[in-house]
Amino acid sequence: MEDSADFAAVPDAFQRLWTPHRLVYVQDQTQPGEHDCPFCAAPGMDDEKALIVARGEHAYVLLNLFPYNSGHLLVCPYRHVALYDDATSEEVGEIASLTQTAMRVVRSVSNCDGFNLGMNQGQVAGAGIAAHLHQHIVPRWALDSNFFPIIAETKALPKLLGEVRREIAAAWPG
Ligand SMILES: [Zn+2]
Repeated sequence: MEDSADFAAVPDAFQRLWTPHRLVYVQDQTQPGEHDCPFCAAPGMDDEKALIVARGEHAYVLLNLFPYNSGHLLVCPYRHVALYDDATSEEVGEIASLTQTAMRVVRSVSNCDGFNLGMNQGQVAGAGIAAHLHQHIVPRWALDSNFFPIIAETKALPKLLGEVRREIAAAWPG
């Protein structure tokens, strides 16, 4: 058994979510324009089809089609902007408040122990769809990591996306 003490590294507080299946997005250099952007198209579809759980004035919330975990949400502005500092203060404000509501709702329906929140800015930073800003909200459970994603390129997800969407949308306030 290898021991991490045998390798040169600086330990930190992070847990690692290894997602080798995402390599395809990082390697694929094509980025969608407004006409073929899934985050621009989603609001034009019905909530069920687009996996949308809530719509705000400047931004909306949908389930990630490629979740790291059950209940993995994305908060996107309606506008096709790439970078956080391209967003208006109204968009930034609503992305923040939708993120807070999403945390409360996901916590209440799933009893998760924590969250990873974040934005990948640019393809080099790991953004799958770098052309359209999106904030990740990934619920975490104490024992949610196992060997599946590492050696089998498989992520075990206990619930179907449609079922998760209905649960979260039903618990969304207002
Ligand atoms: Zn877009």
